[in-house]
Amino acid sequence: MPETIIEVDLKASPYDNEKIHNRWYPDIPMVATVKPGDDFIVECVDWTGGQIMDNDDASDVRDVDLTKVHFLSGPIGVEGAEPGDLMVVDILDIGTLQDSLWGFNGFFSKQNGGGFLTKHFPEAQKTIWDISGMFTHSRHMPGVSFAGLIHPGLIGCLPSRELLDEWNSREGALVATDPDRVPPLAALPSGETAHMGQMTGDAAKAAGAEGARTVPPREHGGNCDIKDLSRGSRVFFPVYVPGGGLSMGDLHFSQGDGEITFCGAIEMAGWIHIKVSLIKDGVRKYGIKNPIFKPSPITPNYKDYLIFEGISVDEAGGQHYLDVHIAYRQACLNAIEYLKKFGYSGAQAYSILGTAPCQGHISGVVDIPNACATLWLPTEIFEFDIMPGSDGPTKFLSGDVQVPLAPDL
Ligand code: ZN
Repeated sequence: MPETIIEVDLKASPYDNEKIHNRWYPDIPMVATVKPGDDFIVECVDWTGGQIMDNDDASDVRDVDLTKVHFLSGPIGVEGAEPGDLMVVDILDIGTLQDSLWGFNGFFSKQNGGGFLTKHFPEAQKTIWDISGMFTHSRHMPGVSFAGLIHPGLIGCLPSRELLDEWNSREGALVATDPDRVPPLAALPSGETAHMGQMTGDAAKAAGAEGARTVPPREHGGNCDIKDLSRGSRVFFPVYVPGGGLSMGDLHFSQGDGEITFCGAIEMAGWIHIKVSLIKDGVRKYGIKNPIFKPSPITPNYKDYLIFEGISVDEAGGQHYLDVHIAYRQACLNAIEYLKKFGYSGAQAYSILGTAPCQGHISGVVDIPNACATLWLPTEIFEFDIMPGSDGPTKFLSGDVQVPLAPDL
């Protein structure tokens, strides 16, 4: 068995584990150093560090402390890695921890996090998903089960000082354009809940005050939430500091493109088996700015889809110019309205789009004034026929299964 170089204890606070951190900062000490060609196992807590429980009450989603996320395992150094190299990461396998065979999906309250459809679903809600080997189903979601497309939502190398400064300055400038917005335009550094791994004392305090939040994807990868970065993929990450400093977390059992529910995919604690190597000077050799990757040879075999179109005309009929964000929102809303005809609540339909291996595509961005985006709903995840027919939708769902909801305080 490969060595487990980072272990987690799900009963303990992630703040007590010095092989975990929750900010990006160049000088976080490496928790282990491996050689190019080594493979090893890394355990991860769920992205919230255990704030969400396996129960039927969504108040934990409503009250979550989002300044604490994401809890990442690392950073791991690779011998000989230098700025400008590419770190090659093979994701050999990912799995659940034996005492944690479940995951969660939720929508944040509009007042605390929001989400892609927060105007339509402003209150906190959650669904709990049981994981049986490679399959999942939920007691809050009748009529649906599927195989996992398991992946890390978040993985990347430590930024250089220069890159960190650039992130903080450009994101600070964006927030300054509308500082009182709810939810905010970006998540700026917040030192109070920072966990800087093995850093201690004043150094940890200073680093926490300017360490970048882990919320957005950036040049180094980070929180990309790409469902296809699944076990079996090979990723090429730019290196910015000596040793590289690879960190990862936010494991997802499954997710639809866009992670539209934001809290999030099917979020889980687990382990990831990876192998690392280096391409010296690879950033320059291949003209790399953001990571590139090769997907897995193995994916769930869903080949049949019902595809919903959306255009850049908003819910009030307002015309927008080639706006793919609005177009994708319309495609998702169209899918939700359709699924409601089969007896699902809006919240159940929204959760299906956030958790199941739905595909999102930018289909057209040149036909003025409307962008066209599509949401691909796999038909085989349903235990009944969801195709349109002359008899109309079969309402086989009783409607007595509810998605736990927590009203705003
Ligand atoms: Zn996630």
